[in-house]
This record gives sequence, C-alpha cells and structure tokens, in this order.
Amino acid sequence: MTSLGRLRNHIGGAHRDGTGAAFVTINPTTGEPLAEVSAASPAEVDDAVKAAAVAQAAWIARPPAERARVLHRVSERLRDKRMELARIEVLDAGKPIQEVPEADIDSAADCFEFFAGVLQGAYGEHIDLGPDAFAYTRRQPLGVVGGIGAWNYPIQIASWKTAPALAAGNAMVFKPSELTPVSALALSEIIEEAGAPPGLMNVVLGGREVGSALATHPGIAKISLTGSVPTGAKVMEAAAGTLKHVTMELGGKSPLIVFDDADIDDAVSAAMLGNFYTQGEICSNATRVFVQRGVHNAFLDRAVRRTEAIRVGDPLDAQTQMGPMISGDHLAKVLSYVEAGKAEGARLMTGGERIVEGPLARGYFMRPAIFADCTDDMRIVGEEIFGPVMSVLTFDSEDEAVARANATPYGLAAGVMTRDLPRAHRMAAALQAGVVWLNAYNLTPVAMPFGGTKMSGIGRENGLAALDFYSERKSVYVNLGGVEAPY
Ligand code: NAD
Repeated sequence: MTSLGRLRNHIGGAHRDGTGAAFVTINPTTGEPLAEVSAASPAEVDDAVKAAAVAQAAWIARPPAERARVLHRVSERLRDKRMELARIEVLDAGKPIQEVPEADIDSAADCFEFFAGVLQGAYGEHIDLGPDAFAYTRRQPLGVVGGIGAWNYPIQIASWKTAPALAAGNAMVFKPSELTPVSALALSEIIEEAGAPPGLMNVVLGGREVGSALATHPGIAKISLTGSVPTGAKVMEAAAGTLKHVTMELGGKSPLIVFDDADIDDAVSAAMLGNFYTQGEICSNATRVFVQRGVHNAFLDRAVRRTEAIRVGDPLDAQTQMGPMISGDHLAKVLSYVEAGKAEGARLMTGGERIVEGPLARGYFMRPAIFADCTDDMRIVGEEIFGPVMSVLTFDSEDEAVARANATPYGLAAGVMTRDLPRAHRMAAALQAGVVWLNAYNLTPVAMPFGGTKMSGIGRENGLAALDFYSERKSVYVNLGGVEAPY
C-alpha cells in the first residue's frame, strides 16, 4: 500500500486506469513508495485528445465573461485548498513547506487570476484600409494543446501552461512528470469543479512514451514542454511531423554578476536564492556567480557562513529551509558534479556531501555546496547541475563580465547586483537571457513574461505575451465597395 494510493488518468471528466505499465513514485524524504500510478498508453492519450476536442468546442461556445468566471473560481479554489495542496507537493517533490504555499500554490492561483482578468480583453485588431475597406483580426484558439511538465514545480508548471491555454479558448491534455504526478490531477479536478466542461483539462500519466504520444498526435495543435534541453530537441523533432506550435521552457546555466558597488549582503542573498531555493532545482538558477575582484573575498566569506547555517531537513517541518533531491538518481548526478569540480581544481568551500546519518539518511539529502576558484572551462561552470551547487568566479571589468556571462549555449536568465543605474540597464541590454533581474533574483510574478533565449527555450509563459503562444490571429478583409477585376 502506498500512502497516496492509486493515481489514475483524468480523461473527459472520468478517472480511468491506463493500459500502460503501472509504476510507483517515491517520497524523496523517506525513500518510501508514495503513490501507485496507472500509466496511460497511446490509446488513452488518443481518448484524452478526443475528449479535449469535445470540451474545447463547448468551452469556446460560452461567452468570454462566463469563461473568465470559471478561471476566477479555479483561482479561488486553489487558494481555499492552499495548505492541502502544499502538503501534497511537499510529499511528492520534497520541497520545503516553508516555500510551497507561496512559491507553488499562490503562483498557480495568481496565474489563473491573471488570465481570468485578461481573457475578456484579449481582442483582435481593427485595421483601417481607407474608405472602401477595412480588416480585422480574430484571436483564434489553436484547439487542443498538449503540456508536458518537469518535476521541480509540478502544480505551478501545470498552471502556467493550462491557465493561458484555457484563457485563449483551448483545451489541455497535460502530462506531469512521472516523478511528481499528484498535483496536476488535483488541478484538473479543481478546473472541473469550477464549472469547466468535463475534459477541458485532461491528465495523462506516465513517462517519455506518453509525452512522445502527445508530441506526435495529429489532434494536438501545440506542445508546451518544461524540461531539459535534450528533451526539448526530441519533442520539437516529434512535433515537426505534424507542424505543431511549440513552447519550450528548458534548462539554463544563468549568470549572476556582482559588482563591487553592490550591497554585499543583498548580493549574497540573491546568490543564495539563485542557488539554494528549492534545493537548487530551478531552471533559472544563477549557478555561475561572477564577483568583481575587490569584493570577492568578502562575498565568499559571507556566502559560506550563511550557507552553513541553512537548515536541511524534513520538508514538512516549517523550520526546514532545504529538502531532499528529487530522486536517488538525481542526487547521484549532483554529487558526481561535486566530484568533477574537485577533480578539475575548484575549491570546495562548504557542503557537497550526502547526509548519511540520522533520519535524513533514508532520503536523498545533501548539504549545499559552494565552489570558489572556478574557471569558465570547468564542467561545473558549463553544465546544468540542477542541484545546490554554487560556482563562484571572479572578474575585473564590465565588458569582461558580459562576454563571459554570454559565453554559453543557454540563455534563460541573468542577474546583476549594482547600485550604478546606467550600468544596470547597460547590462540588462547586453546579457543574452530571456529574463534579467536587477538587484533581485528568481522572482517570477505572473504578469511578467518568462522564458528563455538561445538553447534555453522558445516562446514565453505568463504575462500578456503568453496569449500569443496559445492563439493565432485570423485576418478578415472586409470590402465595402465593388469588386474590381481586369477582365
Ligand atoms: P526532463 O527533460 O527529463 O523531463 C521533462 C518532461 O518531459 C517529463 O514529463 C518527461 O516525462 C518528459 N519527456 C522526457 N523525454 C521525453 C520525450 N522524448 N518525449 C516527450 N516527453 C519526454 O526534465 P526533468 O528532469 O523533469 O526537469 C528538469 C529540467 O527541466 C531541467 O533541465 C530544468 O532546467 C528544466 N526546467 C525548465 C524550466 C523553465 O521554465 N525553463 C522550469 C523547470 C524545469
């Protein structure tokens, strides 16, 4: 028996067993089974796409105000169930309860609230073509869209895809990560309870085969993936066969640049938020911290001292600041990068070891690590680790910082800590990233577009921008005069 019981696919408003191979998820805090998952096969994916198409037709037939009210109710219900949902997410993903209500559940609720608000204002345009003609554009939904999620922010990712998709008049077939499938089911139930037609959000469970069935299905008009770069390339390739639209929210190796005029405690706070929040399992993390030479030692001293005070522990304990890595495999991968850093000559200042004593030894816990004396060619500096490993580098000039920060195939995010206003904006313009934080890090209000450039992604989630990635404009030419013809 697993503590959360059996999870089944949510298709067309019904909970259904899948005909794929069943599997069990693990609570990363204890290493014990958490839920049994009845996985979908391509047959259930097909059923989900058909149910979504029926629901989409019913949804788009409703007046915008009515659709907006449904999304508002979803937001309210998410807030009503805030702590219950947070607890599920802690068990499933190992994220500290100190973070989840705000960073995950409120973010999901904010997203539905935002898109409920913009839904009625998402008009087309009027185009003046002189006295005898005009044109207008209609914002058309794409139809049925597919979402594929990563495991680090399960309900947030599901919401950031589903809220704009529904606001633009689409239906969703969503596949959560096989490691964290629980909260997407809770979300699809809430959407139904809020008055959406059954099947407006369907959840199909399973791993990459189920994702691949979504990416190739001819009834799906668009795929939005949150995952790693290699998966992004595979999903784009699979989607190409049916020329699907794609949004890709992928990995990163983002820089945080600390100038010597910055408030040093704020800079350390930003670097720690950008490396250790959610155990370092955040795509936009600032894992390359470039510190100007004059403040390097002071920065490092304070960062090490504050990192050693981080409370690693049971994520259900309100005092805990860092939970376990998501899985044994992922912990092994992160620890292998710590070894690679040491072997390449970086100086490990603190942490980087698995916790092997006491109750935490059962789960996938490690101590947060800081490396100093890093160089740009080290693997820990070049590759995404996706765990609590901060690499600190030194630099001298602004031009040097920009060149080195941009010398990566990734381009998700960047941060700049400085009190020099013109320099902050010069940096914001020069850094190759989809998001730049000035004197802050990792804040993602839903009104602000979020997404990557270069190999970190295609398209944007959140903000008004997201609507463009879930709809297309149809141009309508209206002739008010006669029809001129040369024959
Ligand atoms: P992953 O790429 O292994 O898996 C992501 C999802 O894709 C999972 O649901 C998985 O089942 C599915 N999948 C895997 N192979 C597939 C295939 N061939 N076809 C279709 N679907 C497939 O990533 P992960 O380990 O779950 O998450 C960590 C990664 O996600 C990191 O690289 C991180 O940077 C990235 N991420 C990005 C963002 C962002 O917004 N940019 C947010 C969170 C995580």
